[in-house]
Amino acid sequence: MATIVPLLSREQIERLPERARDVVEYRKSGLSLNHIQGCTLDCAYCIRHIYELWGQRQPRALMTDAQAVEELVNHRYFQAHVTPIQLFNRATDPFLPAVRPHTFAVLNDLDKRGLTNHVLVITRHRMQPEDIARLNNLVRLKVTLLFTYSGIDDERIEPFPSSVAADSLKLMSTPERRKYRTILYWRPLVPGLNDSPEHLDEAFHLSQVADATVFTGLFYRDQIAEYYKQNGLPEPYEDTARRKIVPETLERRVLATFATSEALFRKTSCAVAYAHALPDYNGHYGIRELCDICPLSQLRRCAEAHQVPTVEQLWEVAEVLPEARDLVVKDITARAAVVSGLVSEQPRYYLQHTLGFQVHDAAHPHHVGRHGRADIGWKGREQGD
Ligand code: SF4
Repeated sequence: MATIVPLLSREQIERLPERARDVVEYRKSGLSLNHIQGCTLDCAYCIRHIYELWGQRQPRALMTDAQAVEELVNHRYFQAHVTPIQLFNRATDPFLPAVRPHTFAVLNDLDKRGLTNHVLVITRHRMQPEDIARLNNLVRLKVTLLFTYSGIDDERIEPFPSSVAADSLKLMSTPERRKYRTILYWRPLVPGLNDSPEHLDEAFHLSQVADATVFTGLFYRDQIAEYYKQNGLPEPYEDTARRKIVPETLERRVLATFATSEALFRKTSCAVAYAHALPDYNGHYGIRELCDICPLSQLRRCAEAHQVPTVEQLWEVAEVLPEARDLVVKDITARAAVVSGLVSEQPRYYLQHTLGFQVHDAAHPHHVGRHGRADIGWKGREQGD
């Protein structure tokens, strides 16, 4: 299979930062395929900072699409029909003009294999009317398009306008009969930047066309904070965090604006699952306070699917992973299993998606009512889940 974007030589690949060379990586909402890296959209808060790829604007391929799909489906974390997949969500936009043929090539290849896995495709770029038919041709995959929209109009933070994502969402949501689902991915919500009553009303208005809406904050990690400082950008927070930041008061205002909405979610996987009329594949149902904004029909689905695993079941699932050899199950409650001994977050996501149940790292406790978000902007620090 040909590549449309330039294919890097082996020597060029070897010079890439170590993390960038891993084209398959487990992230929270799915197993992520990233064999094309480089983006021209230049959002200041881009995750490319974390993979030391910020300077890489021109998309380039580390391998062909066919090789990448082989690598994905043969990965030890991949389970046919189970593992949620994310396509090009780390270092490029799947609908940049040069990248879009690769996006469709990967989707077609996965679909031809008869796979029914969720595939999440996150974009802020322009989609075309012909994309509707191309996506409707996919027979089995459960495809969800997530349109990143923030309403931020400071071009130093987002040079590429949010209105493009809004138009794409409207276009792709228009057909009444379609196989794929659409989500308004309302992020990053940043106090003082895009949280005025007008911004909130605008997002609510836009959410009416989508199958579901997720609101979430900013990943304000050290590398991103450093970039903000170096470039004199207005810093949204004094501190950085490993989780996304949504201050408590802002969350209350969002919920008030969406009081009449039936399809607002705090978690990406919840919105994706709801849009396909399926229970949340991340098992968030255990974290009961997350579900207070969820429609009854969805609560029922998740309640029926919710099963608290035994220690033995956790061990059984972990057994196939060499990196889970030192796994220690510290506790299992109706909310989550708490474990230690895993070298990274990736095997934890494997356990979580296999069991459909939350698995937390004892080193990074979740707090009751905090929805797995950073502490910044929330009062009290009681320990929980
Ligand atoms: S019921 Fe809870 S876990 Fe299920 S989708 Fe709704 S918020 Fe998520």
